[in-house]
Amino acid sequence: MSPAALPSPAEPQSAFEREIARLAAQPAVRSALAWFRDQEAEFSRWQLDLARIPAPPFGEQARSDWLEEKFQAIGLDNVQKDKIGNVFGSRSAEGARSARTKPTKKETFVSISAHLDTVFPRGTPLNIRQQGRKLFGPSVSDNAAGVTAVLAVAAAFERFELPQAESLLFIGNVGEEGEGDLRGMRHIFSDSPWKDSIRASLVLDGAGSDTLVAEALGSRRFEVVIRGPGGHSWSDFGAPNPIVALARSIHFFSQTRVSASPKTTFNIGVIRGGTSVNSIPESASMRVDIRSTSALEIERLELDLRRAVERSIIEAAGEEEVEEKLGEKFEGKKTRARETRRSTLTAEIALIGNRPGGELDPNARILQIARAVDAHLGNSALIQRASTDANIPISMGREAIAIGAGGSGGGAHTQQEWFDTTGRELGLARILLIVLALAGDSK
Ligand SMILES: [Zn+2]
Repeated sequence: MSPAALPSPAEPQSAFEREIARLAAQPAVRSALAWFRDQEAEFSRWQLDLARIPAPPFGEQARSDWLEEKFQAIGLDNVQKDKIGNVFGSRSAEGARSARTKPTKKETFVSISAHLDTVFPRGTPLNIRQQGRKLFGPSVSDNAAGVTAVLAVAAAFERFELPQAESLLFIGNVGEEGEGDLRGMRHIFSDSPWKDSIRASLVLDGAGSDTLVAEALGSRRFEVVIRGPGGHSWSDFGAPNPIVALARSIHFFSQTRVSASPKTTFNIGVIRGGTSVNSIPESASMRVDIRSTSALEIERLELDLRRAVERSIIEAAGEEEVEEKLGEKFEGKKTRARETRRSTLTAEIALIGNRPGGELDPNARILQIARAVDAHLGNSALIQRASTDANIPISMGREAIAIGAGGSGGGAHTQQEWFDTTGRELGLARILLIVLALAGDSK
């Protein structure tokens, strides 16, 4: 967080800024903001408790159970888990005003979500601890901070008579990190009772008050496997070699043109293959990551990757033919040469990750609200492009942003991860005001 000057009084405020000022002046809202400051010890406890529960990708069950219990204890309605482990609790607008809790068909929601999963494999030592205002250990910031903020905001709505014209859906979702490939969010927006009724999504991820992710970085990941008959390095010499073909694929693909704008990148992150120095390998593989701010560029690079692999296979087959002709010159080699001819290499390209990209309309209501809240709080945040849970709704043309949960943090995805609770109340005030404005009357 870096404080910035408040807008000068001469500068005309936007309608959104006036609305935020009106909301922030309400006694219930002021009480909630003061309560955020007083509750810090409790928030730290939630955060530490959660971080102590392991949640490797595809192993979030225990955290889902913990959050379900917390949602119930806070008093949210319709607390439930879906079949993949996403946890939901809601607070209907009607319920807030008249104690009616049954959602209507036309009900729409503002969702406030945080991912439950971590990058840490099962068995990672979790030395979660607190020293003064700082919390230490894997996932304390990413994303125990986000989940704590979801709980803090939900608890504030249950405790104070906060204005709410639209229903709220609080979510702890699975599968954000790595191979999780946004499966939690994907499921919510494709196969949940709320898939068509979430009108705006606020994603809370990691620490800080200076982030505002409104542009979804798209990525596609592939595993390429080239297979052949293998053989002995001496007696089967001439048989096609998958490692050589893979190396050629890499060479061809790495010559592909990438644009600086829209920014596009690729990476060969892992290669594998072979078993021993005197064996022609039976297979070789690589993992490729392609990213771009443009979906078209991602398509183009995927095509280039497929062409590069195909070309390397064709060239390997061409060499086998040459080998066969050579073989014909030497009587004794004929049989082996014919066998080689039959055993051409094969390639398989599997999609192992697919995060859709996209960006919000610069005039999107959620973006105007977030900027008005930052102006009101004197908080400066730059619009960023990243790959977050917000990719899913943004790619569908829905309004969504991802922001930090306050405080500050570092060392994400390492054992040295930390979170400093100093300034958490600013992050929570920012989140609450955004939610209040999103769920307000001015749709
Ligand atoms: Zn995260």
